[in-house]
Amino acid sequence: MPYQLENRPPDLRESMYFPEIIRGIGTITKHFLKNLFFSRDANPDILARKRGGFGHSDNVTLQYPEERAPYAPAYRGLHRLVPREDGKPRCVACYMCATICPAQCIYIEAAEYPDDPVEKYPAKFVIDELRCIVCGFCVEACPKDAIRMDSGEHTPPSYERSAQIWDEKRLLRGPPVSYQYDPWLRRGSPSIPPDKLEEMRARAKPFPTVATDEASQTPGFSVRALAAEAKDRAQAARK
Ligand code: SF4
Ligand code: SF4
Repeated sequence: MPYQLENRPPDLRESMYFPEIIRGIGTITKHFLKNLFFSRDANPDILARKRGGFGHSDNVTLQYPEERAPYAPAYRGLHRLVPREDGKPRCVACYMCATICPAQCIYIEAAEYPDDPVEKYPAKFVIDELRCIVCGFCVEACPKDAIRMDSGEHTPPSYERSAQIWDEKRLLRGPPVSYQYDPWLRRGSPSIPPDKLEEMRARAKPFPTVATDEASQTPGFSVRALAAEAKDRAQAARK
């Protein structure tokens, strides 16, 4: 919703400037004192630390890179292709993500499973992470919840541009996801062994009708979980 700006001439108090200058100084002083003595960083890692004694600020510098700030749950990290529980990608190579991508950085080649010609899969699925503008449109466009940005990771640095080209082998990772209306579960794909099929059906969830945190984030693969793991590793390395 756009801001509504008042386009009116300044009143007497604003025309005199001094009251507004004093009000501004008051606001700055209030925040300065609050930060110096009272407020705590909203970062859970920092909140977990012991408070300083009387007269000591609770604000502390994050000791990067040993300590890292957890990102907000809505953080869009590096892409991943979501696997089914049999390890194959959920992606059905429909090209919707590649079509909507404003940076045109997704390349897909579709193929058919030899033992299940009804279902397509991406024989090639490539994302150029250097061209990606991290808009998340591909995630929203996907009708199969087959691509997510819930990894909580940056694209790792590299010396070669070619290392930023992520193919299906690197992208396919993370916990699997199954929904009750997945076509391969409903009709029983011949590419899935019968006992595995029953297990996948039992674990399948209803497809979410509205976007929620639960739908956009995989439990156990969350930003906070990754940050906690990184913190544990850093603490173990210091011992
Ligand atoms: S996040 Fe945006 S730019 Fe990046 S691959 Fe997805 S649609 Fe393209
Ligand atoms: S990731 Fe989703 S939108 Fe992209 S091709 Fe696969 S199924 Fe279609």
